[in-house]
Amino acid sequence: MTVRRLETVLDTPRPHWVGDGFLVSPLFGPLAFTPAISPFLMLDWAPPTEFPPSGAPRGVGPHPHRGFETVTIVYDGAVDHRDSAGHVDSIAVGDVQWMTAGSGVVHEEFHGRAVSERGGVVSMAQLWVNLPAAHKMTPPRYQPILSRDIPVVAVDGVRVRVIAGTWGTAADGAIRGPAATFTPLSVWDVAVDPGAEFVADVPAGWSTLVAVLAGSIAIEGQEIGASRVAVLSRAGAELRLRAGANGARLLILGGEPIDEPIAAYGPFVMNTRDEIRTAVADHAAGRMGRLDPR
Ligand code: MN
Repeated sequence: MTVRRLETVLDTPRPHWVGDGFLVSPLFGPLAFTPAISPFLMLDWAPPTEFPPSGAPRGVGPHPHRGFETVTIVYDGAVDHRDSAGHVDSIAVGDVQWMTAGSGVVHEEFHGRAVSERGGVVSMAQLWVNLPAAHKMTPPRYQPILSRDIPVVAVDGVRVRVIAGTWGTAADGAIRGPAATFTPLSVWDVAVDPGAEFVADVPAGWSTLVAVLAGSIAIEGQEIGASRVAVLSRAGAELRLRAGANGARLLILGGEPIDEPIAAYGPFVMNTRDEIRTAVADHAAGRMGRLDPR
């Protein structure tokens, strides 16, 4: 079994507001929207933040997406969602929303009602997953994944929630996460006890990214703190890390690269500039649907 090498540790990026509800750090920094991390595009991390009561919910109003999927994981508080395909949902702590924008959807993302009425802590991560050209114009799809439907593997100081893909090997009895995906990938929500070692297999050739959300880890002896991402080599199979003295909360991503051009512009991710121009025109013409005011 060959061990994956540590290739890069991305710097902690400067946070920015998404609407007035989410102060996010774009953890993939300069690698966002590049082939180096395919099939993943972007990861926004909103660490726990206390919000006072606000009357009107804080968040981000109607905006479109086309050509990829948004994956929202809620760690504290709740996120209320509404989209032009008719989905209305509240994502609670531990839940995951896997939204396929596909040919186009208009949605809004706000703090849950309890937070806006009484105040409270909100923390969430949003991952953007690319779609292969053959599926970029697939009809929008919405997967509300509830915490209770996410299998948990607990072993030797490590707790893994398998959101997508598999954990373990067929020989050991692989655990499969509930998310349906268009290309082979895995998303693991991982907690590692202080000083415990985490070892897992990710198929050779896949992009492998470890986002440190809280605490710290060491890979090949290099310390990696919170809000940083470790990029592992595509060569090798085994991913090996150790949690620091305070343990670690990690989002670990593995995925088969999509070997196609990436044309990204704001909320649209296509393969060519022409397709981006079409997306802008289609949205302007209302062809991604509309959302009535709240
Ligand atoms: Mn959005």
